[in-house]
Amino acid sequence: MPHARPVIVAANWKMNTLPADAGALAAAIERQTREPSVVRVICPPYLCLEAVGRALDGTGVAVGAQNVHHETAGAYTGEISARMLAGLASWSIVGHSERRRDQAETDAQIGRKLVRCVEAGLRPILCVGEQLEDREAGRAEETVRRQLEGCLAVARPDGGVTTDLVIAYEPVWAIGTGRTARGTDAAAMADAIRAACADFGVEWADDIPILYGGSVTSAAIGEFLAEPAIDGALVGGASLKVDEMAGIVARAALTAAARREAAAVS
Ligand code: PEP
Repeated sequence: MPHARPVIVAANWKMNTLPADAGALAAAIERQTREPSVVRVICPPYLCLEAVGRALDGTGVAVGAQNVHHETAGAYTGEISARMLAGLASWSIVGHSERRRDQAETDAQIGRKLVRCVEAGLRPILCVGEQLEDREAGRAEETVRRQLEGCLAVARPDGGVTTDLVIAYEPVWAIGTGRTARGTDAAAMADAIRAACADFGVEWADDIPILYGGSVTSAAIGEFLAEPAIDGALVGGASLKVDEMAGIVARAALTAAARREAAAVS
């Protein structure tokens, strides 16, 4: 392993929870996941950010948004800019496949979202991943490389790529389907992502934390965290369940401990 990259578990609550109950769920997850060696992030809906932030204040669990708009301000009805999240979130997911699908987000727009995140001091989790037909046709790596190229071509020259960047490899066919990728395939993709980032001019590509996402559960996470190339998980459905998050973070803490030990002897 080049460096002891951090181990990160990020929860994407999607369009679930209400402001009245989100704080209690976040607090329950925090109580059951007290593993300081694991970077924990909870990304609730915008309207729940304040309640979740209050519940997590002083705990070490970070709060993230699920998206930011690619412009700073203007006539974009119903949208939320990165700057509006000041004091409410310190991370944001960008380019989630559900937004690429439902809002037709393009790689160039997602690249601009990275820039907006950096300007606003938000740590971005950039999502990439192939469709099932791409994987079956042997085009998975080519597809993800194209997504990265489209984002980074915009973001990198404009300052949207810093050492804060986190990438989530989320094969679209594995999201919310109960079907996961194989750990070895996810690791091969993580290697391909770092190689692509290096090709596109990111000098610290080996240090980029890469998460796996797609139907991660406490039972499935071990296969991914056994791969040195994978640094954690972006968890959707299972992140709404306290016991599942407890199991996922407990397994992540084992990987974090093993990495610490390996770094200490090297
Ligand atoms: C996600 O929303 O990023 C995700 C991976 O969802 P799920 O875990 O439900 O597949």
